[in-house]
Amino acid sequence: MERSYVMLKPDACERKLIGRIISRIEDKGYKITNMKMMYLNEKILREHYAHLVDKPFFPNLVEFMTSGPVVGMIVEGEDVIKGIRILMGPTNWYEALPGTIRGDFANTTTCNLIHGSDSVESAEIEIKRFFGNA
Ligand code: UDP
Ligand code: MG
Repeated sequence: MERSYVMLKPDACERKLIGRIISRIEDKGYKITNMKMMYLNEKILREHYAHLVDKPFFPNLVEFMTSGPVVGMIVEGEDVIKGIRILMGPTNWYEALPGTIRGDFANTTTCNLIHGSDSVESAEIEIKRFFGNA
């Protein structure tokens, strides 16, 4: 069964949206097989967002992602990586349609509530990064 690493970002926790977002994932039929709340530091964010470290917005992204706890999850299901990305909506809030998590709840590009792996390879790397050998 395919696995995705999903992470509810600090804005989801601060806005008390984690229950509603988790419900959307479960309503779609996906199974959460591991979950924990944690605080991230810059070191792990430089790994997780390695593709963005040279972007001008990276310091803001670190500030946001360390501003409060996140909820990391392993989510399982058929084609779950693509399925979660569809539930999330695209990165940019103005492209995310109503009905998607970002389309319904996000109005900035940085604070967009949720992370979901973008490929099988990155899912396995991210699961190892945040859950070890789960
Ligand atoms: N991000 C940002 N500004 C941008 C692009 C991305 O602050 O112009 C943040 C945003 O929180 C995004 C994260 O960096 O979710 C990771 O970017 P990526 O391109 O991987 O988007 P995602 O996979 O989260 O849709
Ligand atoms: Mg990404």
